[in-house]
Amino acid sequence: MSKQEHVARVLEYIQELHGFIVLEQYTGNYARKCWNLDPAAGAAWADPSAGQRTLFIPSYLKYAQGLVHMGEHTDIKQSWISSALHSALRGVAMLLVEHGYISEARQLARHWNATSWLWI
Ligand SMILES: Cc1cc2nc3c(=O)[nH]c(=O)nc-3n(C[C@H](O)[C@H](O)[C@H](O)COP(=O)(O)OP(=O)(O)OC[C@H]3O[C@@H](n4cnc5c(N)ncnc54)[C@H](O)[C@@H]3O)c2cc1C
Repeated sequence: MSKQEHVARVLEYIQELHGFIVLEQYTGNYARKCWNLDPAAGAAWADPSAGQRTLFIPSYLKYAQGLVHMGEHTDIKQSWISSALHSALRGVAMLLVEHGYISEARQLARHWNATSWLWI
């Protein structure tokens, strides 16, 4: 799609959701992000095939050489923003535990209501 077609399509979709007010209030200013044109975008999310979770996840969950692996791909439910957030909680908890901050790790799990899956 050309830039103009892309913007027109997005406006059409927003208008479908919110009505004519969209056209009334649209100033003509926009910022366009097209992933297909971004040379730095190589993939969108992890999509492990059969056996790859079993293969990779144990090493993601290890604290090794001062490194903790975080990111959407390291979560059992990979692909989502929530996977990235869950992995961040898990990674920070791992760092805290590794350095002896057990009660802080527990507090983190409680604060983010993660005690059902983040066992500390
Ligand atoms: C087009 C598209 C649509 C999506 N739609 C949805 C959706 O509707 N809902 C949803 O939940 N998820 C969606 N996702 C997936 C979601 O965006 C990702 O799962 C999530 O952003 C992953 O978060 P992350 O923190 O693991 O990785 P990222 O968001 O990729 O963050 C990694 C960061 O590391 C930086 N980085 C990379 N290399 C280096 C380096 N060497 N040094 C320093 N920094 C570096 C990158 O610049 C980036 O900022 C979508 C993804 C795409 C691409």
